[in-house]
Amino acid sequence: MNVFKKIADGEIPAEIVYQDDHCVAFRDINPQAPVHILLIPRREIPSLARVEASDHPLLGHLLLKAAEVAKQEGLSETGYRVVINCGPDAGQEVPHLHLHILGGRRLGWPPG
Ligand code: 5GP
Repeated sequence: MNVFKKIADGEIPAEIVYQDDHCVAFRDINPQAPVHILLIPRREIPSLARVEASDHPLLGHLLLKAAEVAKQEGLSETGYRVVINCGPDAGQEVPHLHLHILGGRRLGWPPG
């Protein structure tokens, strides 16, 4: 079982900021911005490359919740970035689909 699944199941502690039947949002252990939250589905999906057509409702749910969590964190007006790293070239470390929600400072573009 990967580390994010263990967090979702409550086996590893994390600072959870939102959760429901389908997803969990918690603060990144190594934040890259003043606000850095990870939003994951409870179901184990290794990466965005592995989603299927039947995941359509879940993916929509994740995006809606990302916006809600960003609002909860006070980022709606100043702005924020939602990132999904997918595979080795993107630097994906944890093989469990996750959305990074980053904000609280001006973010550079393009990403490195
Ligand atoms: P990736 O590179 O896979 O897109 O991002 C993985 C993220 O998970 C990294 O930002 C890393 O800091 C974070 N992370 C890895 N292990 C843990 C953990 O045990 N707890 C928390 N809260 N974040 C973690």
